[in-house]
Amino acid sequence: MNIEKRERKRILTGDRPTGPLHLGHYVGSLQNRVKLQKEYDTFIVVADVQTLSTNFDHPEHLPVDVRQVTLDNLSVGLDPEIVNIFIQSMVPQIAELTVFFSMFVTVNRLRHNPTIKTEATQHGFEENMTYGFLGYPVSQAADILFCRSDIVPVGEDQLPVVEVSRFIARRFNELYANVFPEPAGLRGETARLVGLDGRAKMSKSLRNCIYLSDPSKDVREKLMSAVTDPARIHKDDPGHPEICTIFSYHKAFNGKEAPNIEERCRKGTIGCVACKKRLFQVIEEILEPIRERRVQFEKPGRVDEILRKGTEAACIEGRKTVQLVREAMHTDYFD
Ligand code: ATP
Ligand code: MG
Repeated sequence: MNIEKRERKRILTGDRPTGPLHLGHYVGSLQNRVKLQKEYDTFIVVADVQTLSTNFDHPEHLPVDVRQVTLDNLSVGLDPEIVNIFIQSMVPQIAELTVFFSMFVTVNRLRHNPTIKTEATQHGFEENMTYGFLGYPVSQAADILFCRSDIVPVGEDQLPVVEVSRFIARRFNELYANVFPEPAGLRGETARLVGLDGRAKMSKSLRNCIYLSDPSKDVREKLMSAVTDPARIHKDDPGHPEICTIFSYHKAFNGKEAPNIEERCRKGTIGCVACKKRLFQVIEEILEPIRERRVQFEKPGRVDEILRKGTEAACIEGRKTVQLVREAMHTDYFD
């Protein structure tokens, strides 16, 4: 059995519906999704099961959050005519693949995964980890491999998890038959955007975010109160841009002006307030078209219609892949 020859390569990526998407998503993954959508067949997973790996006690948030994350993806410019946005739990083949894959992935491989370790600490799970949380890289491998995807645009924090998918694809092909391409992780230009607290990555769960859906007023307030260089008391004190959250945002969103701002900060010829005001303008230029597109997709029923269509397309791919997997694993009993 050989990997089916396809005219176009495939992308699978997505988000956990744990809250609205933020600027970290934009630079880490969304920009790449938008850029590549015309060139690649694109599947975007709204990973509701993966949300339950940490938020299993609050499933009541899912109906709102699933739609919110979908709307965020549409508002940055993903075109529902050409991409498939689907709900993870509604593609049963993903659950089926998760079970098959879990037979040959060791617990140690998961336990030592750097992302699992960091996130376990973040959620206070070190001593008491659920089977579902430890195994989420296997479920994510099923998301990636159900459509036999080639490329996975993700932020830096997810690259070690994509490694598990690469391992699973290779191991499956060795053990049974050549069904899966080995998917490659693709980082954004800014692979890891720091949060407004200046400590951890910008993360929905840590609430240190500028959201794509934030109104101007909130963006301004968040930027104006963000930490800069604590050693700068007067506006003409020389600054240290390398430790400043605001400067890291200039690098991510205002690449052209960043070298000049860096120099002026070091010399103490630009104050933090002026630096923040300029950043606010730049970020607003990015967010304004996103806000405008969002309004178009907010019409009642539109998001659900897009999710239904995307989920149907995903199920068709899932059935094809499971058929290949079952043949390879001698579990296609009745043809
Ligand atoms: P949660 O805290 O609920 O896990 P999150 O903010 O980490 O939420 P995810 O839905 O887990 O967001 O991640 C979706 C995608 O966005 C992944 O590819 C992830 O690597 C990327 N991403 C998330 N946060 C950042 C960030 N701060 N910088 C760059 N990429 C990011
Ligand atoms: Mg995350």
